[in-house]
Parts: sequence; structure tokens; C-alpha cells
Amino acid sequence: MLLRENKEDISKIPGIGKATSDAYHSLGVYTFSDLLLLNPRTYEDRSQIIRVGEQKLTGICNTFIQVQKVSYFGAKHILKVLVEDIYEVGGHSLNLLCFNRNFLKSILKVGKQFYFYGHVSYSYGEWQSSQFEVIPMGEDGKPPAAFGQILPVYPLTGALSQRIIRRDVKKVLDQVPFFDDEIPISLMKKYKLEPTDKAIRAWHFPSNLETSLKESRRTLAYEELFYLQLATRRKHLSSNTIRKPSTISILEKKFIQNLPFKLTDDQVKVLQEIREDMASSSSMNRLLQGDVGSGKTLVAWISALHVITEGKQVAFMAPTELLALQHAKNAARLLEPFGIRVAVLTGSINSKAKNLLLQALKDGDIDILIGTHALFSRTVVFKNLKYIIIDEQQRFGVGQRLALFEKGDAPDTLLMTATPIPRTLALTVFGDLNVSTINTMPIGRKKIVTYLVSNRKRNDMYNAVSVEFKRGHQAYFVYPRIEDTNDDGLRDVVTMFDFLKTKFPDVPSALIHSKIPEEEKMNILERFSRGEIKYLVSTSVVEVGIDVATATCMVVEHAQLFGMAALHQLRGRVGRSILQSWCFFVFDDNLTEEGKERLTALKKSNDGFEIAEQDLKIRGPGEITGMKQSGFLHLHYSDMTVDLPIIEKAREDVDNILSNDPGLLSSENSIIRKVLITAPPFTN
Ligand code: ADP
Ligand code: MG
Repeated sequence: MLLRENKEDISKIPGIGKATSDAYHSLGVYTFSDLLLLNPRTYEDRSQIIRVGEQKLTGICNTFIQVQKVSYFGAKHILKVLVEDIYEVGGHSLNLLCFNRNFLKSILKVGKQFYFYGHVSYSYGEWQSSQFEVIPMGEDGKPPAAFGQILPVYPLTGALSQRIIRRDVKKVLDQVPFFDDEIPISLMKKYKLEPTDKAIRAWHFPSNLETSLKESRRTLAYEELFYLQLATRRKHLSSNTIRKPSTISILEKKFIQNLPFKLTDDQVKVLQEIREDMASSSSMNRLLQGDVGSGKTLVAWISALHVITEGKQVAFMAPTELLALQHAKNAARLLEPFGIRVAVLTGSINSKAKNLLLQALKDGDIDILIGTHALFSRTVVFKNLKYIIIDEQQRFGVGQRLALFEKGDAPDTLLMTATPIPRTLALTVFGDLNVSTINTMPIGRKKIVTYLVSNRKRNDMYNAVSVEFKRGHQAYFVYPRIEDTNDDGLRDVVTMFDFLKTKFPDVPSALIHSKIPEEEKMNILERFSRGEIKYLVSTSVVEVGIDVATATCMVVEHAQLFGMAALHQLRGRVGRSILQSWCFFVFDDNLTEEGKERLTALKKSNDGFEIAEQDLKIRGPGEITGMKQSGFLHLHYSDMTVDLPIIEKAREDVDNILSNDPGLLSSENSIIRKVLITAPPFTN
């Protein structure tokens, strides 16, 4: 059986009730295969004795104990059991504090011996533990089975516990006699990989953390990256349709002449690159990198005209509903005067409107469909999708992009991002990928002036913003929290919204954050862009895409808590016209050296690429500009930040296989065919 092939419903595991299966669902686990794909967050090493008093940073002890004395303490008569570490003579005493576990008194009898695993700390002049597990020693004085093992620690939610998940994973593993290898035998040999069966089992229950777990991960990561490469590379094999030559269409010309400004040289260059890609016989796969406000989206609309002239359809994906709606509004304003039919599909559209829209799409009565994740849905069928544009591509998974790709006939793809990624990474992640870059900002833009403001100087910032209000300009105030819920001393949106009213009486404002319904958010942004609202008090939801030319001030409080890429994106909300703009990063007194270095780098540079480089230098490759956090690759076993060498190998191997056997027809490659047909990775 293949790893992803077991579609048996999770509720079929004996002993699973509704609460447990609900909890599994909220972890995304529906089938037996899903359960095996649930990754341990970490492992508990119970193979080495760690005696009381010898625990390291983790505070964990793993040893044997004997009960000395039973007592109670506090008003609630909490059970307190004095035990002694008996692994060898002369062990420390330890007090077990049994909060809410007084039932343990019937087990922890004086003189009895147990295997102990738990957190131990030194307080009130004694060794104590309140988080622990005790299992009686066997009849013959032998340790119980749990001792000596390495146990997986899974993410938990709802009714789940480690005990339940471990039990269920074991049951599923026992129920499958054998997991087939997923890649050709020659590659298994070449890299000395483990048999897949062994790797899958060791991933959950490794026999040791060094060889067993490492080798298991290496095997599973290679297999995964092999299929990632295969998926991205096979998609871009040539299509047979003959394309028009790469000239500018009349529609494009007209559109460009009608713009109130001139395209920048970089925009012109990128448009030509896209036209040439589109004219070639294989489908385009191009990444468009450019700083916020550099005019990428405009390039996307113009290139869409090229496709629409041919009578084909365009899909435009945005990561949030807010952005999708805003893009749709702009597209309608720019394109509808030229007779182009624009529609927008988001999750919250009502079903009647949705049905009409889907029908129109199928009939070819829509030229550009803009939307969120809703576009991936099976019900969305195009008449002839030829061009896919993905905004903020780093927010989408490989599988999601491919799902959209399947809806067209070898469509061209344009991925846009303001978060630059190193070229090697781009290549490996996206397969055969061309990169276009917009380096120059539209002419007339003034450099945004960035101030780092210490808490004590905050009044200077308020004064500066107030001057801008008098000029009729607008501002954003950004805070890390929505509400003051956990008393962490951070300023929050709700509190500051009231406070700012006292600072700027009579200046109309609004509050905006993720808990405000989408429709109301749109309404607020609408009024903000018309200038009826003068400032927004917000969380980082304004981070991407919002475009208001007369907004000239960006204030970010507790700036040191945001990543560099996020701060740069936030700053990009201002400076979007010829007006001079200002950005204030307010930092706290406890600013670390690293925090200072990051903010200073931002003050010095307005260049997103340079900032990404700096970020890499300061924080190290482990944190490449938000990629790890966003998890956009949806990888199970591999880690982009350490597995680059594996990716490169997998890429070469895939290329070799595809050039020798493009149809994957040889018997050696039959396993690949089987995986792709029955249980391919990267399909959701
Ligand atoms: P991005 O998608 O890179 O953030 P946009 O395409 O949204 O940038 O452009 C930002 C703003 O600049 C928009 O209001 C757009 O109309 C305007 N713009 C785009 N290109 C130019 C240009 N060549 N000259 C002046 N303004 C431009
Ligand atoms: Mg954009």
C-alpha cells in the first residue's frame, strides 16, 4: 500500500468516538493516511536514564522511584507524595504534587516502585514535580514497556491526548502490512535510502534519535521533494497550441495610451518578457518580483489583455477576500471601459449570485475572474482558461497552484511577489521558472522618510501626523494586538482607537482588524480611500495591497515585534503617489541589539530586495523572509531552509527521468506512475 492510499475514515479506528474524530478533523485528519501524515512536533527520549538532579535545560527526568511517604497540603488537601530516585543508591528525594490527581493515592503506596517520566524543578528548597507520568514496575522488577522508547509528541486539540494519538497511529501502522517504496529502485540505491515502509514506521516510532529518525526523515524528504519537482516540471511540458507572435495587440496599445502616466522602463521590459513567453510553444511559468507599489498589478492587467484579445480567460488569485475585492474594483475601473468583463468570486458570495457567475464563466461570458481560495473549488469551471495570475504567491501552496492549473489547457502562469526569494530556491520550488524583476519605482515618487521613535518621543510623532491631517492627508496606526486580553502591556487597536480620538479630536477615524466582517472592512476602506475617514487604527491586516494615494503617514507601534518583511510591507502602504510620505516605527525601551539592527536597516533602506538580504544576514537562513512561518510549500518532511542540496539532486533526477522516459512508461518508472495515479502528494 502507498502512504497516501489508505482512505479509510478515521472514525473506523476501534474505540474512536465523535469527540475524538471531531478533534482529528480540526487537525485536518480525516483518513488513515492523514493520520500517518500527522507530523510529530518533537519526540520524547525515554531511552536514557536522567536522574533527579541531573536534568538538563528541558527539566525532564526519566528514572525509577520508590514511594517514601504520603501527605496532603493546602486548603484543598492536595496529595503530596515523597519519593526517592532508586536507579542507583544515593538518589535524591522528590516531591510529587498531585494537583487534581488525588486519585493517585490508591496507586502511589509507600514502598512501591515506579518508572517515572516528568518535569522536575527545584523550588522551596526541594525537588518537585507536578507534571509527570508514573507506571508501576513489572512483577519481576523489570521496567514497563514505555521505558526505553522514543515517543512521538503530536500537535493536540480538543479531546485528543498524546496517549490517544500514539495508540491510534500504532493501530493504523499495525493494520497496514507493508508500505510500498515510492520511487524507482535505482534512486533508492543511489542515495542509500531506507525502504519506505521502514521510514514511515520510524518517523512515528524511531528506535533512536540519531540514525533511525535521521535516516527516516532523509528518505521521506527525498521522496517528497522528488514528487514536488515532478509535479512542477511535468506541468510545463510543451502544449501544442500555436500562439500568436509576440507583438503588442491593439487593445494593449489603446489601454497603455489611455493611462494617466507613462509605464516605467522596467514595466515595459517585463511586459515584453511576458509577451515572448506567451508566444512560445511551452506555457509560461514566470515569477514577477517587485517592491510594493512598483506597479506589478498593472503589469498583470496589461498582460491579461494579450490573452483576452485571443478570446481566452484569465484567473487572478488573491490571498484574502479584502484584496480580491479591491483588485476587482480596480480591474473594473481600468478594464471595463474597454469592454472587458470582470467578475469576482469569494467565499462569502451568496449561492444564487454564485450560480449565475459560474454559469457565465462556463459559457465564456467572463474574461477575468478574480478571487480567493474559492477559485480552487471543483465547481469552478472555465470555458477556456489560458492565464493564471497569482498575487502574493508566497501565501499559496504548491498544490493550490496546481489545482488551478488543472482547470485550463496548459495555461500561462504569472506569480507575483513583493517578498523576494533567492533564485536557487525559486527554481527548485517552482520548477522551470523565469524571473522578472521591477527595480524602479514609478517616476515622481518621493522616498519615504522613516523615523525610529522611542517611546518617550511619541509626542513628536503625534505632532507630525497632526500636521499631515491639516494638509488633508491620511494615516495608518498599526498595533500588534486587537484587544487588551492577556495583560502583556502591549498597546492594542481597541484601546488606542479611543485614545487617538483624544489626540486628534474631530478627525474622523475607523478601526479595522480581522474580527470585523469582510463587508464592513470593505466599506471602511472605501470611505478611507474617498478621504471621508482620515486615519485607520489597525492590526497588520493593512499589510498587503491596500492602495490609497493620499495616505502619507504609517505609524507602527512595538515595531520590534514585527518581522522585517512585514514592516517593509506596512511601510509600502504609504508613498504611493507624488506626495512626501513618512513612516514612524515606534520601539520599546527593552529593544535588543538585534531588534535595533533590524530597525536601523529598515530606516536606511527602502529597497525590499536589500532588506530581504539584510534580514537573511541578521537572522540567518533559518528564517528566510517569512517562508518558514507561512509554510507556503505545505511540505511534510522537508525543510526548505536545510534541504536545498536534496532539492537540487531531486531536480536533476527528475530531469533525467523525464528526458529518457517522458511518458514514464518503463517498468523501472512504473512506481512513479502508480503514485501519480493512485495517491499523489500535492493534490489539495
Ligand atoms: P504593486 O502591485 O507592485 O504593489 P500596483 O500595480 O498596485 O503596484 O501600483 C501601485 C500604484 O501605482 C497604483 O495606484 C498604480 O496605478 C500606480 N502605478 C503603476 N504603474 C505606474 C507608473 N508607471 N507611473 C505612475 N503610477 C503607476
Ligand atoms: Mg500588490
